[in-house]
Amino acid sequence: MSEINSKVVIITGASSGLGKATALRLAKGGAKLVLAARREERLVELRDTIKDQGGEAIYQVTDVTDRAQVESLAKAAKEAYGRIDVLVNNAGLMPLSPLDELKVDEWEKMIDVNIKGVLYGIAAVLPTMREQHVGHIINLSSVAGHKVFPASAVYSATKFAVKALSEGIRQEGNGEIRSTNISPGAVATELTSKISAPDTAKGVNEMYEMAIDPDAIARAIAYAIEQPADVDVNEIIIRPTRQP
Ligand code: NDP
Repeated sequence: MSEINSKVVIITGASSGLGKATALRLAKGGAKLVLAARREERLVELRDTIKDQGGEAIYQVTDVTDRAQVESLAKAAKEAYGRIDVLVNNAGLMPLSPLDELKVDEWEKMIDVNIKGVLYGIAAVLPTMREQHVGHIINLSSVAGHKVFPASAVYSATKFAVKALSEGIRQEGNGEIRSTNISPGAVATELTSKISAPDTAKGVNEMYEMAIDPDAIARAIAYAIEQPADVDVNEIIIRPTRQP
């Protein structure tokens, strides 16, 4: 039996890109999914697609910057399925810009979603995983969480923070909670559409011509989940073969 089968998996940012691809892949593996994002119509459509394909999913509209909503998401997962096996902390934003442009509002949004949202997710599931004496937290960092690029200072800062959190979870997991830090390179999603600095957007869009399919990341996430409980896949970097 696959280790994915029957696992209860919460995915934030499931309405698009990597989160959606991960939901579709894990559903085929028999996971019981809890889909979260702000855009309800997208979640309904994904839930229906998964059910039509014979999978199991519920959704809850969730803004990850609101701690109470993230707690309520974890509660909904427990009420529906009785446990929480995996949290995929995936919701994120990447409005890249040079520091000199002082897009402080965008800096704050990235901190709120990419760091605080991830922390709220951890806080919402950790007590349940401790009670169960088993759990798995998967955080989406980035190649930009290993290296700073031009215009990526703040985004990279958030993704370096995510990497630190993944390592902290690993160290404090006490043999019960697995921690996986996923670091994608360029993947074709809606992520780049929110870059408001025109020159940066142009450069990133050119670079993203080589972007790979989101299912490449979904496969990596599935790989980490399907390992036996005593095997903890801590870090996976996946990028286009052509990415420098
Ligand atoms: P998308 O823009 O396609 O998806 C982002 C998802 O995050 C959406 O489902 C969006 O849903 C959700 N989201 C954004 N803000 C919030 C919020 N406040 N509350 C809840 N959900 C929110 O991007 P990707 O799929 O590419 O990104 C997924 C993750 O992967 C991110 O953490 C990103 O940083 C990371 N990543 C992506 C790379 C890439 O090249 N694509 C490379 C490296 C890392 P909604 O708007 O409905 O709330």
